[in-house]
Amino acid sequence: MKSDKKIIVLGGGISGLSTAYMLHKKGYEVVVLEKGSEVGGMISTTTEKDCIVEKGVTHALELTPIIGELTEELKLKDDLLYASDLMYKKYIYLDGVMHPVPLSATTFFKSELFSTNTKLKVMNEPFTGKSKNPTSESIADFVRRRLGKEIFENAFDAFVAEAYYGDPEKLSAKYAFPKLFALEEKYGGLLQGAVKSIKNFKKAASETRQSGSVFTFAKGFSSLTNAIAGKLGHRVITHADVLSITKNGEDFVVSYNHAGQVKTVEGSTVVSTVPAYIAADLVDPYDHEAALSLKKIEYPQVITLYLGFTKKYVTGHTPGYGFTIPHKAKSNIVNVVYISDLFPSHSTEEIMLFSVTAGGTRNKELFELSREEIIKKITLELREMLHITASPSIQSFKIWNKFLPQYSIEYKQQEEAFSRFETNNPGFLLSGNFRNGITLSDCLSTAQSVSDSVERYITS
Ligand SMILES: Cc1cc2nc3c(=O)[nH]c(=O)nc-3n(C[C@H](O)[C@H](O)[C@H](O)COP(=O)(O)OP(=O)(O)OC[C@H]3O[C@@H](n4cnc5c(N)ncnc54)[C@H](O)[C@@H]3O)c2cc1C
Repeated sequence: MKSDKKIIVLGGGISGLSTAYMLHKKGYEVVVLEKGSEVGGMISTTTEKDCIVEKGVTHALELTPIIGELTEELKLKDDLLYASDLMYKKYIYLDGVMHPVPLSATTFFKSELFSTNTKLKVMNEPFTGKSKNPTSESIADFVRRRLGKEIFENAFDAFVAEAYYGDPEKLSAKYAFPKLFALEEKYGGLLQGAVKSIKNFKKAASETRQSGSVFTFAKGFSSLTNAIAGKLGHRVITHADVLSITKNGEDFVVSYNHAGQVKTVEGSTVVSTVPAYIAADLVDPYDHEAALSLKKIEYPQVITLYLGFTKKYVTGHTPGYGFTIPHKAKSNIVNVVYISDLFPSHSTEEIMLFSVTAGGTRNKELFELSREEIIKKITLELREMLHITASPSIQSFKIWNKFLPQYSIEYKQQEEAFSRFETNNPGFLLSGNFRNGITLSDCLSTAQSVSDSVERYITS
């Protein structure tokens, strides 16, 4: 052991597990406290009628070399499953029509999603000036400014919704969509930026083993979190509901309820990866301002469903990645992923499997209905959109009362409060998907930088 002082990681989702695993590999003593009966947090896979059913993450982009490294170390390389080429065929559902998402200049100019005026405005995009308020501009204002109202309403609004299920007028361009925002900052525009960054990405990808491909695992994403937990062994404690964090000299003492019994664990460092609204109460005794900033982060309510139908009854589906729906279409469904097309081995010959996400800040009234009514409504909406003539044979769902953190236009101030908290409380770090991005790749990159920070702190 490099240090006899424990590093206590709060939360056993991908952020907590990967941070603990990286520190364990560096030779530090770690313990992970997870409230639930199982690890994984938002990652949870089950099997139904021989189909792989995900409650959380359905597919991820390989945007960091950490994924390749982890899967190799965890002996999961052979289980990695990359999406078929159909992932490039994506649709926007508007006015009862599935419009292909234009991915080239030719398809953009042919697309019926946009008027001629809009297409001309897009050609002028490279000459649009930069934002005057880059840190507080919403993604809606950013896209309208650069590409026009119609591109925002008919297309971008749908992509924003499927990433965050939140309000594009409140989400920050800079913090919620840093890669898109960087195209303006770095290259002066989205069009020239996209071309240059794709070239740079391809070069970097071949150098750093990050493919940019969409992937899952043969037995679903729980393979990843279970394998990390397996490596950590007894260092992961489930049914451990963290209650408070106090100080004993320079050390931290974490109290947790373990199956009805209050226990404590002492360590030199605490890494919190629990959701922001949970971290708020733990941080409050140290820094009230930081706690308020944590509490202010919104988490919309969302329902995710896995619906499987006998193939012959699905009559209106064109193979592809799936579709997404702009707000103006007034649908409860936000997006649908055609799992059977992306990952054929996740379903059977007979069943067509769809992952459906509905609700979010723009459909709050959906959750005034009973659970049964919500499922019935969403299933009927999907059946209408894809002309499905029978009821589903697989129907699995989860209502997320608090889905994903919203990186709002106030995020800069919130992030400043978190950094100030960490400076004033050395050894207490705030991590998780409310910092530096929500995707699986983001969480793994954050885990790496947090584990490096912990090492610097311990060895300083
Ligand atoms: C439905 C859904 C679909 C998604 N789809 C994708 C996708 O397709 N691709 C993608 O890249 N990303 C996707 N994401 C985002 C990604 O899954 C998450 O951002 C990521 O898994 C979050 O991991 P985390 O460890 O930061 O948080 P969490 O997974 O929320 O982990 C936090 C953990 O803390 C625990 N905890 C809470 N309170 C306490 C306490 N008091 N004491 C101890 N433990 C506590 C929780 O039980 C939980 O296990 C999706 C998310 C959801 C919800």
